[in-house]
Amino acid sequence: MEQPTAAILTAGCRLNQSESDALRHRLALQGVAVVESLAEADTVYVNTCTVTGQADRSSTQLIRRACRAENQPRVVVLGCLAERAPEQVGQIAGISEVWSNAKKQALIAGIAPAPVRSRAILKVQDGCDRGCSYCIVSRLRGEPTAVPASRVCAQFEQLLADGFCEVVLTGLNLGTYRDGETTLAGLLRNLLGVCRHARIRLASLEPDTLDDAFIAAIADPRVCPHFHMPLQSGDDAVLARMNRRYRAADFGRLVECILKARPDANIGADVIVGFPGETEESFDLTRRYIMALPIDYLHVFPFSHRPGIEQPGAGPVRPQVVRERVLEMRGFSERRRREYQGRFVGTARLAVVETTRTALTDNYLRLKLLCAARLEPRALASLRVGQDGTVLTGSPC
Ligand code: SF4
Repeated sequence: MEQPTAAILTAGCRLNQSESDALRHRLALQGVAVVESLAEADTVYVNTCTVTGQADRSSTQLIRRACRAENQPRVVVLGCLAERAPEQVGQIAGISEVWSNAKKQALIAGIAPAPVRSRAILKVQDGCDRGCSYCIVSRLRGEPTAVPASRVCAQFEQLLADGFCEVVLTGLNLGTYRDGETTLAGLLRNLLGVCRHARIRLASLEPDTLDDAFIAAIADPRVCPHFHMPLQSGDDAVLARMNRRYRAADFGRLVECILKARPDANIGADVIVGFPGETEESFDLTRRYIMALPIDYLHVFPFSHRPGIEQPGAGPVRPQVVRERVLEMRGFSERRRREYQGRFVGTARLAVVETTRTALTDNYLRLKLLCAARLEPRALASLRVGQDGTVLTGSPC
């Protein structure tokens, strides 16, 4: 009998990517050959996202791509869009099954990610109970849960044995990690105890979840000096309407603490622009606040209304105004990104080799490799950072 084949298409965040990697591993354990080409797949799994309207559109495009494949594979749709709108998804011609998030989680529970990337993405946490007023994903993924610390350690050690030099820890609200007495800081300390020369990167962290123990743990040079946190707004009134549990000044103090522990850190923030009721005055507060903040880049999202979530008592911002504010914030982000990159031209940094062409430094600079000697993907290399126009380059030191 021929070996069954499957392909996996993924939309969305690192958490979804780590779950697709675990699904890949699970399928391999079941004797399924996971292939890249849809034309060779008996089954295509589409792991979707629904965080914004754009995520819905990208996920739907992936589903349609799978359904159009010439060999007419069985198409299974899973992930957050499938959880939020199963009937709507099920109406797309060519779909065989729509899975709930519970079914996905049951299939991959306890399974480590397949070693398919240059850097491993390890899920340690899921779910969130913060109830931010714009967030649909927390409502789809349920209450906070933590992968037991002992299992995280075992999977982490396996990834190192598989040859990974960088492991990215991820979760829906990573900072709320708690297994008994073990918090994220404790988990980090445990992993650093077994990590030898490898390095650990942290995915996005909610600012209200980070404490002194966390700041102490990230002082270890094997924790990548790259931190990304959702700020969302610099106006406290908007933060309150978003149900965020910190105020702008708290975020600023946290950035100061991180920079004290890691002065070379690359710090990024998410900003939502055009949240209902964001007046010119509140946007100006955000603009001035962010310009005074020592951060190095922004991910700017136009507010995206999600079905089933109402923003009480606040009117929408005109689309043209939202577009202008997004452009302004993205322009600012680009200037800050270049300023940060400029600080490191001429310095040596440790980088994970991603492909024969690129490497990623500990502080999240992507370098175009200028190497006479061939560097192995996944390896850590000490590279001198150079610049060629707007492109950063890396050559072995
Ligand atoms: S903390 Fe993050 S995941 Fe949780 S509700 Fe808020 S935005 Fe959503």
